[in-house]
Amino acid sequence: MGKQGIVVLGAGLQGTCVALSLAHRGHAVTLIESHPAPLRAASLRNEGKIHLGFVYVLDHSGSTQRKMLEGALCFSPLLDRWCGALPWDEWRSDGFFYAVMPDSLATVDELEASYAALRLMHSEFSEHELCNPSYLGQQLTWLWRRSGNQSPFEKRLGLKGFIETQEAAIDPRHLSSRLEQHVRSHPLINLRCGVRVDGAERRQGGFRLYLDESGVGSIFDADLIANCTWSDRARIDETVGIPSDPSTICYRVKHQIMVRQGSGNRPLVPITMVQGPYGDIVPRRDGQVYISWYPECRTYFGKLPPSSSLEDPQHAHAVAERSLTALQTLLPDLCEASIVSSAAGVIVARGTTDIEDPQSTLHRRENFGVKSYDGWWTVDTGKLTNAPQLGEITGAEMSGEAR
Ligand SMILES: Cc1cc2nc3c(=O)[nH]c(=O)nc-3n(C[C@H](O)[C@H](O)[C@H](O)COP(=O)(O)OP(=O)(O)OC[C@H]3O[C@@H](n4cnc5c(N)ncnc54)[C@H](O)[C@@H]3O)c2cc1C
Repeated sequence: MGKQGIVVLGAGLQGTCVALSLAHRGHAVTLIESHPAPLRAASLRNEGKIHLGFVYVLDHSGSTQRKMLEGALCFSPLLDRWCGALPWDEWRSDGFFYAVMPDSLATVDELEASYAALRLMHSEFSEHELCNPSYLGQQLTWLWRRSGNQSPFEKRLGLKGFIETQEAAIDPRHLSSRLEQHVRSHPLINLRCGVRVDGAERRQGGFRLYLDESGVGSIFDADLIANCTWSDRARIDETVGIPSDPSTICYRVKHQIMVRQGSGNRPLVPITMVQGPYGDIVPRRDGQVYISWYPECRTYFGKLPPSSSLEDPQHAHAVAERSLTALQTLLPDLCEASIVSSAAGVIVARGTTDIEDPQSTLHRRENFGVKSYDGWWTVDTGKLTNAPQLGEITGAEMSGEAR
């Protein structure tokens, strides 16, 4: 039996950020992860867009846009604080173009009105003297503008609009690998991989964790715990009596598909097709391209986490083939593309209907964040975008600093 003061469950980006924030404050932390290595689940298998809020126009209150902006503007500054200056210029994509599809759930006027509100919100943030508005190593200046000349892509798709933005994605492979090195070598972080948390129990003055390491059970006592296990978070919370709300939570499985363009094809630019269940394209700096076509690459939607394994290479490849075929009809520059990899990740959010429904609460992401229950913190990451921000909040709270 071990006993350790502060324990963080789950070494995705969220758990890693909580551990880094605590270690930065001088606290020793044990970070427990079921995979053989950290940062191998959703935090690796994603698109890497650090959202500025453009996607969330159907939340008419603007709360989701505010939340995304907050997270995005402290994403790189916090990681730089914990790890030293990171090479954002090498990891950052070019700016996204927003392609307004012919049957978009929002008109161009509605989209532009929402983007204008976002610009206002951003300028409020930038005027705040304590706010460092650095975004992935660059300054946001013009934020978005209508794209000038019609590209062949716009004509072909009959787009209603094509809007250029400063929003970018980072390459999650590079970020994950650098953070893994950092966590493994940090003198205050004790990373324990290959250890699954079965559950926990509240005891006098702390908690007892029930662990499983290659089929061998053990217990581990801790004073303070942060649960950052994303797809398993609600289940583990329940073992210490923290109820979740299964009527609103949904779990989706979506694939991260990487392709390589054919040599004769023109280079692509990052594109998000809006507003509805469409797709994204993100060229990475090494020549690979992230592609997503929602109707094909979202393969599960349910109130419970997926019960079948995410590690089915044949299925993942078939999903990639269908997604690529769908996108090739829209983007001829993908016609000679070949599949490099396809891997499934889980997305946890609040919603009972999928994103083709304009009323779906999946279009709002304002109800996530950190909650604490007398020594137990549970962190709903919401988006990759917000993980450092929530890591900092959790680290500060666990250290006893007021929010
Ligand atoms: C295809 C796809 C595209 C996405 N694109 C974007 C995007 O462009 N922008 C954006 O902001 N967000 C995006 N997301 C969402 C984003 O990836 C997640 O919000 C984020 O990675 C969640 O981070 P996390 O650390 O909470 O979860 P994870 O990275 O899943 O980390 C949780 C960790 O906990 C471990 N764990 C789970 N259960 C246990 C247990 N019982 N015991 C021990 N360890 C356990 C897991 O192994 C895992 O390592 C995307 C997601 C997917 C799947």
